[in-house]
Amino acid sequence: MRPAVIHKDLAALPAPPNPAMGWDEARGLLDGLPGGGLNIAWEAVARHARGALADRVAIRWHPAAGDVRPITYRELDESSSRFANLLRGLGVGKGDVVFVLCGRVPELYFAVLGALRLGAAVSPLFSAFGPEPIATRINMGRGKVLVTTEALYQKKVAKIAVPMPTLAKVLCVDSADFRAAFAAASPRCEVAATTPEDTSFLHFTSGTTGMPKGAVHVHGAVVMHCATGKVALDLHPDDVFWCTADPGWVTGTSYGIVTPLVHGVTSIVDEADFDAERWYRILEEERVSVWYTAPTAIRMLMKAGAELARTHAFPRLRFVASVGEPLNPEAVWWGMEAFGMPIHDNWWQTETGGIMIANTAAMDVKPGSMGKPLPGVEAAIVHRKDDGLEIVAAPGTEGELALRPGWPSMFRGYLDQDERYRKCFVGGWYLTGDLARRDEDGYFWFVGRADDVIKSAGHLIGPFEVESVLMEHRAVAEAGVIGKPDPVVGEVVKAFVSLKAGFVPDEALRMEILGHVRKRLGAAIAPKEIAFATTLPRTRSGKIMRRLLKARELGLPEGDLSTLEGGS
Ligand code: ATP
Ligand code: MG
Repeated sequence: MRPAVIHKDLAALPAPPNPAMGWDEARGLLDGLPGGGLNIAWEAVARHARGALADRVAIRWHPAAGDVRPITYRELDESSSRFANLLRGLGVGKGDVVFVLCGRVPELYFAVLGALRLGAAVSPLFSAFGPEPIATRINMGRGKVLVTTEALYQKKVAKIAVPMPTLAKVLCVDSADFRAAFAAASPRCEVAATTPEDTSFLHFTSGTTGMPKGAVHVHGAVVMHCATGKVALDLHPDDVFWCTADPGWVTGTSYGIVTPLVHGVTSIVDEADFDAERWYRILEEERVSVWYTAPTAIRMLMKAGAELARTHAFPRLRFVASVGEPLNPEAVWWGMEAFGMPIHDNWWQTETGGIMIANTAAMDVKPGSMGKPLPGVEAAIVHRKDDGLEIVAAPGTEGELALRPGWPSMFRGYLDQDERYRKCFVGGWYLTGDLARRDEDGYFWFVGRADDVIKSAGHLIGPFEVESVLMEHRAVAEAGVIGKPDPVVGEVVKAFVSLKAGFVPDEALRMEILGHVRKRLGAAIAPKEIAFATTLPRTRSGKIMRRLLKARELGLPEGDLSTLEGGS
């Protein structure tokens, strides 16, 4: 049996930033606009380009093929200014929304930072979206300009069949016309005098539980991005940081663009898709020191085997973090095997705009726990009642995870869904829709989405616990668990399992896996059925879509599939 806690030699770690840092102190790490106000583009780029960091490399871009391109803070400042000037020429300013649909190319970063600089809001779209989800989002967000590439234009935008009445212009960043205009544009552009409450980003949620929602965010969120960069990701000035999330999702913008730049560190951007060997090579050659990735990527690396990791050396790697889905204890332990350090899970949502609960560098890790609320974050386990909320004080009790509003990156609304937004707030708390419990040491443990929890014979069963035990079996690569209606017990647990290479999905293996879970969890909680699948349905951001496993199992409508990986 593995121990429940991974103890660290805390004295041997670099001094953590003030572990009790509050929002005011975090605000003090930022400059603020010279004339007053707050703008993300100023904090992330413009101020560095005017100071000691001007020649430091901000982004080291790895194209899918070809040589690495380093981009300094000065170049990022100039190129995003050129972009801003081109957008201004199209009439874009405060109150407008610029949509960006590009792969991970430098122009994406220039466009995002250029639009923010003008005071316009940005909505980054994942480049694998098909025509319809692109149009739906542009219309929901009332986009004025779409920034894309010629290939994506031909493949997707040109095929949009519905009107997009607010869209005035599409810019293809690799067209000859654009290139000429970009080169001719001025590399200087004032940063708009935005306030902390001005809109910065529109982020669409992942669509794991249903139709994606559009969350509205503000420039003031940069306080959170700065604070969490220090406290949750342990960024120090000389770090080389790599966030593997695509900027089409909130993690890829908050922590792939804003946070590392605000901290003035060098950040890696890889244009290519996941490939185990390529990722290890980048980690090694770039001497990445802080790495932020996701459970789905870690599970894929696990599938490729820890031996592959050990053919590389990562002498500078100091901190590995993960977000987006529950991180199974197996994955935390695998980090010890592959990198000699645990993987640090943290929890947040599109709506929270930044990391809220985390295993920080200065904490012992309990594998399977998402960590503790960050300083300044008040989290509680609550039960909804007819007349409000009951705060659950007893450790170990499951309930809904609630947060006390007031952190700087909190979303300010759902696009076109005011009622839904208002319903998230009850009795002075924001309700997250996730179920969790807190232990006696203050660590939080994810149980499942409120929608995914299984009710069986009077038990509430969280899919995460069952999936984690399935993952302990040597043959299991990935697992997704659902509740299947049953006339006697309400719901029975059904598991979908994909296997590691070299294992045959036969009856003997099914019985062996069932036996393993029964032994660990007991017959009441263990799955009654296990189905083998070659892959599990996932969102494009890599989350297992249990709602789809369930709909398919029950022959029900599949619902919105715009974020389904491999969909169109
Ligand atoms: P939608 O809201 O459209 O159904 P989504 O909730 O997956 O999609 P995101 O905002 O991208 O969209 O994801 C946030 C959710 O991801 C959290 O509410 C939680 O359910 C899950 N999540 C994120 N990090 C963790 C984590 N460390 N452990 C467990 N779950 C996590
Ligand atoms: Mg959600």
